[in-house]
Amino acid sequence: MMNKQDILELLKQIKYPGFSRDIVSFGMVEDVEVDGKSVSITLKISTQKDDKKQAVENAVKDILLSTDTFDNIQVQIKEQSQAVPISQPELAGPVPLDNVSHIVAVASGKGGVGKSTVAANLAAALIQKEYKVGLLDLDIYGPSLPTILGINDSPHLTQDKKLVPLERYGMKVMSFGFISGNNTPTIWRGPMVSRMTEQFFQDVLWGELDYLILDLPPGTGDVQLTLTQKIRISGAIIVTTPQDIALTDVRKGADMFRKVQTPVLGVVENMSGLVIKGQMTHSTGDQRLTIAGLDEVVVDENGHFEFQLDLFKKGGGLQESDRLGVPFLGEIPISQELMAATDKGEPLVLSDPDSFVSKVFIKIADSIDTILQN
Ligand code: ADP
Ligand code: MG
Repeated sequence: MMNKQDILELLKQIKYPGFSRDIVSFGMVEDVEVDGKSVSITLKISTQKDDKKQAVENAVKDILLSTDTFDNIQVQIKEQSQAVPISQPELAGPVPLDNVSHIVAVASGKGGVGKSTVAANLAAALIQKEYKVGLLDLDIYGPSLPTILGINDSPHLTQDKKLVPLERYGMKVMSFGFISGNNTPTIWRGPMVSRMTEQFFQDVLWGELDYLILDLPPGTGDVQLTLTQKIRISGAIIVTTPQDIALTDVRKGADMFRKVQTPVLGVVENMSGLVIKGQMTHSTGDQRLTIAGLDEVVVDENGHFEFQLDLFKKGGGLQESDRLGVPFLGEIPISQELMAATDKGEPLVLSDPDSFVSKVFIKIADSIDTILQN
């Protein structure tokens, strides 16, 4: 005999097509009824794609058949009504976005730590891997993607009131900033935020995407929690700085994502030390540069040198993420080039992919890609 719990355990082996997550943790199994040798499963799948529904239905039947326990197996897929009443956002529940394979949220405990910079450069690194990428700036308090990507346009609204994302550097971009205006600091009240966000998820014509990167508002409170509950996020990245890492920022972020069953893909430590790059003139080769408190810096035959100066205790990010059991994805130094690229409105990963900092972003994007594709 198998009971409901046994069956749920079994169904956890079934991944939703295109995702690394299973149908149970996605909340797609609405009901399981067992009556002797009969079992009836009710699924709730909010996709328009019949082939995905069929694939899940078949997988459920196959796995139940393989137990040799049931003579009668019923699988019913409930249609999810498309219109979700805005006044009751809690009814919406997290739903996967159609045609978007992976949604990655970039979060931070507070503003100004480089969350948007990281989001834009990771999106750029994924574009370079020839993925179809979207970038959604949900930072209603200080949307910075319009600046980072140098966008001044407003998105078009189609006749049926859908927003067409702007295209920039091969990525599709949508930001509250496009709508509220770059220089309009807007005080959004709680209900307004959740309403706008609902719309952003449901009413943007993303088309087919491999990755949608979300630039979340800073913080780990209710607003962020509401946002992360709206759609099924494949994984989250927490951006922090060396000063904050030993504090509770990362832990709070990790706790928040745990509440909504979203895996934390890892921690990125930003502004981690300073890369100093330069050239000695009148170089005669085989020179050494000695700076108090640092190892000797190698100067190449043309007089070029490059070294990283750690402003805070080294390795804090690594230790902290180890302690919390989340991967450490990498550290990005304070970089003049990165700041300049942001001011110019082009992510460094695109304008100078070979630079030291770009390579760090590319490595982080590779790690995320590897985690999510497997
Ligand atoms: P957030 O989205 O977390 O508020 P931003 O990405 O907008 O932060 O970054 C805040 C400011 O810091 C921006 O001016 C950005 O150019 C700068 N910045 C971010 N990361 C770095 C870095 N590693 N080196 C130099 N400047 C950085
Ligand atoms: Mg930002």
